[in-house]
Amino acid sequence: MAQEIVVLLFVIYRLISTVGLTVGPTELLQLSKNGGAQFSLDSSDIAKASVDFGGLSSQVEPMAVMRPSSASDVVSLVRSAYHSAQGFPVSARGHGHSINGQASAPGGVVIDMSHSPATNPASRSRSVPVYSPTLGGHYVDVWGGELWIDVLNWTLEYGGLAPKSWTDYLYLSVGGTLSNAGISGQAFHHGPQISNVYELDVVTGKGEVVTCSEKENQELFYGVLGGLGQFGVITRARIALEHAPKRVRWIRVLYSDFASFTRDQEHLISLHGSDKFDYIEGFVITDESLINNWRSSFFSPRNPIKLSSLSSHGKVLYCLEVTKNYDDATAGTVDQEVEALLKELKFIPGTMFTTDLSYIDFLDRVHKAELKLRSKGLWEVPHPWLNLFVPASKIRNFDRGVFKGILDNRTSGPVLIYPMNKHKWDQRSSVVTPDEDVFYLVAFLRSAVPDSTEQSQTLEYLTQQNERILEFCASSGIEIKQYLPHYKTQPEWAQHFGRKWARFIQRKSEFDPKSILAVGQRIFEPMGSHSSLVPFRASS
Ligand code: FAD
Repeated sequence: MAQEIVVLLFVIYRLISTVGLTVGPTELLQLSKNGGAQFSLDSSDIAKASVDFGGLSSQVEPMAVMRPSSASDVVSLVRSAYHSAQGFPVSARGHGHSINGQASAPGGVVIDMSHSPATNPASRSRSVPVYSPTLGGHYVDVWGGELWIDVLNWTLEYGGLAPKSWTDYLYLSVGGTLSNAGISGQAFHHGPQISNVYELDVVTGKGEVVTCSEKENQELFYGVLGGLGQFGVITRARIALEHAPKRVRWIRVLYSDFASFTRDQEHLISLHGSDKFDYIEGFVITDESLINNWRSSFFSPRNPIKLSSLSSHGKVLYCLEVTKNYDDATAGTVDQEVEALLKELKFIPGTMFTTDLSYIDFLDRVHKAELKLRSKGLWEVPHPWLNLFVPASKIRNFDRGVFKGILDNRTSGPVLIYPMNKHKWDQRSSVVTPDEDVFYLVAFLRSAVPDSTEQSQTLEYLTQQNERILEFCASSGIEIKQYLPHYKTQPEWAQHFGRKWARFIQRKSEFDPKSILAVGQRIFEPMGSHSSLVPFRASS
């Protein structure tokens, strides 16, 4: 404890001496007394907190990294930042899977949320899933920094339950995905993850811990969901659960005709009840993306498919990917159900690939690809990702201009495309989507290869291609919205949020008036003239 106090005093001293902050002795004492938080100034901890999955540029370093032992450590830290004369930046970091430094805190403190009170022996253990007669279902309360894979393992162990809505990759934090939306092939039916959370504990930018839900402190609840970390740190989330199926039938079929592909996708997401697939995604296949599609374990050497064998079908193909969940009681009928659903579709005959696996293996599928890429040194490379929501009415223009145009057969990673139903997204949340009942996620999940002699694999080339895609959308009147958005100027953010911008600013002034939180998103000017809320300057 004595050692921690010394480290803490040093952190505060550095903060005061470097950025001229004033923190009183009372706050110091309170911070150190409030329990088991560890503060680190260690250069390797600082370095780790200064990079993210994007690996696009080195970020300005934080002064310190805090590993909280409980929500009250987060409260103490944010309160100190808020009550100090000018404030200092505080950013929650889930697992650092952002692309553009969104979880950074230049010159301030990064809260390493992955340091979980749930796994910390000094604090209480995880809570078990609960049945709520009022909600008519089960839920579980989890720490905001928990990884989804750990939530899944925990809820499966306690009652064979699982969250309803997912991301493709489970090594993301609950607070991190809820700050964006959290989407995957289940979103057409269950909505994004932000539509499947009942209640949150949030530490606001004033250092107050507030419990919020649809009924209680509604403005904060909906602000935080999809709120890019701007209104508070999520320390607890109450996640909706369902009974987990045992197994998954996973099917892929190919299309050469884009109109048939999207018609079938949109038909499938319009189905209700039990006569529907449980997961609907898709991806674009170019010659190169067959090789570079790290998400795909399907087209394995044992089950090879060469584009040349399909050359008569055109340069670009589209793969529809669907699953049907089942368990012991429904194992006897799953074949029939799948057949009935596939019968309606217009894919290329003879291009159906089927596999069968456990539910957890299906949900955790991307992790297997991660391990493979890591073993080849291809995981920790720059990732100039671009994620767009494209209105359904414009998806064919997008295909012509981008998949068959700008991409030029070079994707440098998977390109996902799948539609979602807007009515499954609560419009009160902060997230923005196109103004149409159906919109598509189009995700360019690129990896740049350092030192590549192939120009199309360089970071510069891919970054320029992203810009060309955005310019094409703007000039063709395709009103996209960025998912996991990244902008550099205030007018761009205002345009991104559109009708929601005024409310976003209002919420910011109410819940984080000194603009302390998640400054790495670059929406509001961090520190400086902290007496009022200042939008981010265009020049930055
Ligand atoms: P971080 O990157 O650490 O943080 C993201 C933002 O949220 C930051 O601004 C941070 O300050 C804030 N934040 C973090 N924790 C909290 C908290 N507790 N309270 C308040 N604010 C917080 N997204 C999808 O929707 N679907 C996918 O299928 C999907 N697949 C992915 C696959 C890979 C391999 C990767 C790298 C990312 C993927 N993502 C996906 C994107 C992912 O949702 C974002 O990266 C998201 O930011 C979560 O990552 P994180 O938990 O590491 O958060």
